[in-house]
Order: sequence, then structure tokens, then C-alpha cells
Amino acid sequence: MSHPVYHNLIGGAWVPAASGKTFLNLNPADSADVIGAFPSSDAEDVNRAVAAAKKAFITWRLVPAPKRAEILVRAGNLLVQNKEKYARAMTREMGKVLAETRGDVQEAIDEAFYVAGEGRRLFGVTTPSELQNKFAMSMRMPLGVVGLITPWNFPMAIPSWKLFPALVAGNTCVIKPAEDTPLSTYNLMQTLIEAGLPPGVVNIVSGFGPHAGAPLVEHRDVRAISFTGSSEVGSLVGQRAAASFKPVSLEMGGKNAMIVLDDANLDLALDGALWGAFGTTGQRCTATSRILLQKGIAAEFTEKLVARARKLKVGNGLDAGIEVGPQVNRQQIETSQKYVEIALAEGAKLLTGGRALTEGPYAHGNFFEPTVFGSVSPAMRIAREEVFGPVVSLIEFDTFEQAIEIANSIDYGLSTALYTKNVNRAFAAIRDLEAGITYINAPTIGAEVHLPFGGVKQTGNGHREGLSAIDFFTTWKAVYVDYSDKLQRAQIDNQ
Ligand code: ADP
Repeated sequence: MSHPVYHNLIGGAWVPAASGKTFLNLNPADSADVIGAFPSSDAEDVNRAVAAAKKAFITWRLVPAPKRAEILVRAGNLLVQNKEKYARAMTREMGKVLAETRGDVQEAIDEAFYVAGEGRRLFGVTTPSELQNKFAMSMRMPLGVVGLITPWNFPMAIPSWKLFPALVAGNTCVIKPAEDTPLSTYNLMQTLIEAGLPPGVVNIVSGFGPHAGAPLVEHRDVRAISFTGSSEVGSLVGQRAAASFKPVSLEMGGKNAMIVLDDANLDLALDGALWGAFGTTGQRCTATSRILLQKGIAAEFTEKLVARARKLKVGNGLDAGIEVGPQVNRQQIETSQKYVEIALAEGAKLLTGGRALTEGPYAHGNFFEPTVFGSVSPAMRIAREEVFGPVVSLIEFDTFEQAIEIANSIDYGLSTALYTKNVNRAFAAIRDLEAGITYINAPTIGAEVHLPFGGVKQTGNGHREGLSAIDFFTTWKAVYVDYSDKLQRAQIDNQ
């Protein structure tokens, strides 16, 4: 069967990989459905893309920021028009259900309009000089060519979180989308081109991490790297970037806890638990993967959660009524399977799920049953390591203080949630949970684009997307203008 063939975007031209190599992008719900062939790029393609971005930077940096922002406004409007088309393409490409891929495109729309406002808000700071007749101010400057490396679970939203602030700040970009989801980045790029983005300002190099991602990280003309993905690869990217003192923003894993206290609205907490644990088939860095239950409600909550998890409809995310789509590829299924075995060997109790679905309508896809483990103790690997699949662990506790301690006892620190009606406990949790994001009476997923997004500990290296993305994609310049007509020496002549 014939399928479309996609190319890299370099300097405004769609071109195949220099090597001519391609790879196939398959529908995870049906491996017979080929989305298309994409270039399998290597260092040569990265070199060409970076050269194009470097050339485009000469003029892009001089376009006034409010004008750059107008392109984002047009892109946002185009995304509104194409939302359904792009959402369907995304579900076909990576599996999550249509309601969620519509949300993914919506996030790119929100980001476009939010960041467009930054075009008139790239504020610097003016401050009095310590010397007479001297003016002092600071300005935000673009970095130059920036490299963006993105994952497959939010294939349009995450590229937009990186591209839009980078662009409004005056940088030019080379993006290396995840090998499982290049099409959604292409669709975003089509939108930017239609919105009037000049050639070379964004370049796409598709392909595999070690061949197309690593050369981007190492390229001497790339001034910063923004990466979202696994902690394992993030560590590698961070180390390679550090060798050339390149600023690098790393957004990585999570093992996110939802705490349910005895006084919580249980039905609300159940809705949150199901959405947090099994939305996006558990493949979110913010997914609820530990549910901490206070002893008074643990039995009732567990019973109800298991009953509802069993009823979730698993299938092709394009079909009406489906609640849980496939996992993105075979490797993710194997990881889920591996962690089921680890949990069983550790003594956790499998309450429902635990198997890949392979029969009938599931025969050609990567489907896994929504899985719940009970009797999990905080020390078990299933309670500490990221699965990135539809697998959730239930941990019981006695006191609120214990819950906070368990929630904080892991290496990650991305998202947390507390269900309670007690306002004192809610504020204590907001203060004490070690995480970049805390929700009260809402699940661990649901970030909005204009707040800071990111985490502490092994989740990230201190940067945030959203609110402070502009900080990462700009550098400060301090400016002093002396209008005294004489040499004035700081720290000396004002004494
Ligand atoms: P995920 O598990 O979410 O796919 P990965 O960390 O494996 O996360 O991948 C995230 C992104 O990093 C992808 O675009 C992938 O191709 C890229 N990547 C993988 N390995 C490397 C590497 N060695 N150097 C740079 N990028 C890489």
C-alpha cells in the first residue's frame, strides 16, 4: 500500500535526509495503518538545518517582537480552524483518544495566544545608576539558534511550548520531533508557514535520538537546548550540553502522587484518580501513578476504583466511546509488562488488569489493560519508578504527615494532588509537597499554559516552561549610557 513520504524542512525547502534513509510512522492502534515515511536524519542533516537557522537569525532577530508575535496570532487562528483535522491525525499517529488530542491542539492554540502577548511584554528593567548623568537598563536578547527535542505524548502541545516562546524572543530553531510523532510537528509547522513565518526560522530534522538528536545537542552553533523526555536521555543530553557550556532546559519524568484523606469527596477523588491514572493511557509525565489512601476510606475507594477501572473502554482512540487508547509502541507495552512482573515479585497485589490485550480488535495494536496494584509499600520499585503506562499503585497510610512523607520519598518531583475538605491540610500540603505542581481536589494532570510547568529533584534541572519560558530563551544584556562627558569610574568616583 502506498503512503505519503514526508521530508525535513531546511531553510524553507522540504528535503529528504542526505542519506536518503527513511523510517515508517505507524498507527499504534493498527500497525497495518502506515501514517507515512519520514526522513531518518543524521549529523549531516542537522548541520544543514543549523546553518539555515543561523542564516535566518541575521534577519529574524531584527524583526520587532510585536511583529513576530503577529505570526503567532495568525498561527493560533489557523490552529483553531484546523483543530479537528490535526486532532484526528494525532490520534492516528500516537493513539490517545480524540477528546485528548483535541485538547493537545487546544494547548498549542492557548500557547500561541498567550505567547503572542509576550511580543509586547519582553520587559527589561531600568534602574538608577550609582553615578550622576549615567543611565542604566537591562534588555532581553535572543540567544541565536536553539535546538528543541520533543517527546511523543504531547506531539503538538510540547513543540508549541518550546517553539512559540523561542520565536517571539527572536531565536531561530531546529526541532527534532519524537520518532513516534513527527506528523504533528509537521502539521504545526505547516501552520507557522501559512501564518507567514520566514524560511529558515524553524527547521525540522526528523529521525532517531542518537542520530538526529545527539548532533543537535553537540553542534557548536546551537546556543541552547530545550529537551522534554525521559530522565535517562535527559541526563545524557545535560552532560553533553554541559561540555560546551550550553544552557539546557530538561523536563523529564514523574511518579506523581494523589493523596486522598478520610474527609475527601470520594466520588470526586475517584473521577480524578481514573482520569489522572488512565488518561493518555498513563503516558503523561504528570500521570497519577501512586494513589495514597488514608485507612478510613481505603477499602471503599479501592473497591470502587477497581470496579470502574474494569469498565473502562479500551480501543482505537478515533472510535466513539473509547476511554483508553493504545500505548504508543511495542516497547511501552513491554515496559508496562515488565513493571507488572516486578510488582508481583515484590509482593504487590494485582487487583485488575496486568496484561497486554492481543485478541480480536486488539490484534494489530499496542493495547494494555488498565491495571491497579494494591498492597503497595513505598519502598517497592512499582512505587518509585516511572512506568509511563496504564498502571497505578495504591498505598495506604494512617496520618496526613505520613502521606506527605511518602509522597516526598521518591526521586521525582513533578505533580501532586490532595483530596480533602480541610483547608488547613490543603495549605500545609501546598507548602510541604516537594513538587513543581500541586493540585487541591483535582488530579495530577491538567496544567494550563500560562503557569510555570516543571518539577524539582530528578524531574528537571530548574527551568520552567509556560510562565518563565521566555527566561530560558533570552539572555540579559546590561546597558550603561554615560552622558556626563567625563570618565566616571563605578565603585570609585561615587565614594
Ligand atoms: P520518551 O520515552 O518520552 O520517548 P525519550 O527520552 O526516549 O523519551 O525521547 C525524547 C526525545 O529525545 C525524542 O525526540 C528522542 O528521539 C530524543 N532522544 C533520544 N535519545 C537521544 C540522544 N541520545 N540525544 C538526543 N536526543 C535523544
